[in-house]
Amino acid sequence: MIGKNNMNIPTIGIVTPCYNEELVLNETSFQLNSILSDLVEKNYISEKSFAAFIDDGSKDKTWNKIEENAKQLSHIKGLKLAGNVGHQKALLAGLLTYKDEADALISIDADLQDDVSVIKDMILKFISGTDVVYGVRKERTSDTFFKRNTALLFYNLMKKMKVNIIHNHADYRLCSSRVLNALAEFKEVNLFLRGIIPSIGFSKDIVYYDRLDRFAGESKYPFRKMAAFAWNGVTSFSNYPLKLVTIIGFVIFFICIIMTGYALFALYTGNVLPGWLSTVLPMYFLGGVQLFCFGIIGEYIGKIYSEVKQRPRYFIDKRIG
Ligand code: UDP
Ligand code: MG
Repeated sequence: MIGKNNMNIPTIGIVTPCYNEELVLNETSFQLNSILSDLVEKNYISEKSFAAFIDDGSKDKTWNKIEENAKQLSHIKGLKLAGNVGHQKALLAGLLTYKDEADALISIDADLQDDVSVIKDMILKFISGTDVVYGVRKERTSDTFFKRNTALLFYNLMKKMKVNIIHNHADYRLCSSRVLNALAEFKEVNLFLRGIIPSIGFSKDIVYYDRLDRFAGESKYPFRKMAAFAWNGVTSFSNYPLKLVTIIGFVIFFICIIMTGYALFALYTGNVLPGWLSTVLPMYFLGGVQLFCFGIIGEYIGKIYSEVKQRPRYFIDKRIG
């Protein structure tokens, strides 16, 4: 692998989106900075390597902390977005902003839930020629029973819909600059990076790690946001729900034909059913199904709408470091 500065030693960047993370930032900056310093000292990576914190429009003192750390620690940088755009877009902002300053970028959350000790393994795999290194969780014991099972359901559902995502991989990964250049070509607004990156291709590898508890602060992904994220993953990558609508429609049509046959038969034998069951029930039933189907189609139309507008996905306020 050819580095940007030196023939053999690559420059590595770490990108960390932060939303109201003032409680964890000092610790995360310190840990990432020491890991980078250590690898620079051992001549694995160039001294230009860095960890960039992306402030996703935080309402607390996150940006002040980033500024302080950027002044005190040699490898820390910061990027402040103009407003809160959400984890995926904030991460994209970081990746696209810093992709030309490094040979590979590693994305990691700010809360130290992803074990930073495998960063070195990711870098070693990159040096030996791998383009994408996915961080995959060994087990989910630190999660609640609910989160564990909804996550399992999500991965299985995605697999059924033939969406290519890596099981138990969140957004902890290393991407080489050619993967990042490919990523820059994806102009979609409804971002689901876990689906996009595997679809790019190139050589890949996996490092396994234990997911820990949040170092401090609270999860910014309550159930409502998690469900929205999963739904976005499905509808951004699969037309299966639309196909399902067609299948449901067909099955119901088929049932209706049988019911009509039965009604004609009942009429013929004189055994006429009391009217309301046969009219009112199907009415409610079909009304429900139709609304459900319209809902799904509407979701996709909504997506088309937000995509055709081609709105910018983020604005950068300022940079430090
Ligand atoms: N995050 C962000 N913007 C948001 C919400 C979250 O940049 O609007 C960041 C957050 O600071 C963290 C990462 O995304 O670094 C993952 O969020 P969190 O740890 O709250 O999610 P969880 O691990 O609970 O799924
Ligand atoms: Mg977290």
